[in-house]
Amino acid sequence: MILFIDCGDTLCDESTEVRLVPGGVVQKASLFPGAAETIEQIHALGIPICLVADGLDASFQVILRNVIGCFDGWVTSEAVGAEKPSPLMFEAAMKAMELSDSDKPQILMVGNNVRKDIAGANRFGILSVLADYSPRYDMTPHAPDEVPRFILHDICDLPALIRHLETQKN
Ligand SMILES: [Mg+2]
Repeated sequence: MILFIDCGDTLCDESTEVRLVPGGVVQKASLFPGAAETIEQIHALGIPICLVADGLDASFQVILRNVIGCFDGWVTSEAVGAEKPSPLMFEAAMKAMELSDSDKPQILMVGNNVRKDIAGANRFGILSVLADYSPRYDMTPHAPDEVPRFILHDICDLPALIRHLETQKN
């Protein structure tokens, strides 16, 4: 399996983000309990991990500073010039990770936003996983392509989901 993952309200608790000006670079933010350990655990399993996140590169450098070494790819909307659900974001991740279309059935996209992460992943043809533990966005799918393939109630459950899918594959 290969992991594409969002940051805000998936790894990081957006309510803890501190900016000097609205829309500016995040100066400080907390990850959800267990999020750092989960990313480290997945990295230790040998699963390639790519950030696929809308926002400023410098913000994610701050937010993910303690786990930055676990990421094999780093795709931000600032660098791409488009936000999820644009396929440009997912294409950039494929390129960063040197993947091809035949790898798509092995790719999980984990995120909290049904209109961005889930619809984007479903339309792109990769496995969508809704991180549903943040209260800040409406998670009700309003179109068939906003329906997630899997739902994660706790970030700490992600290694088990990956292991389950790896077992099914073999
Ligand atoms: Mg998010």
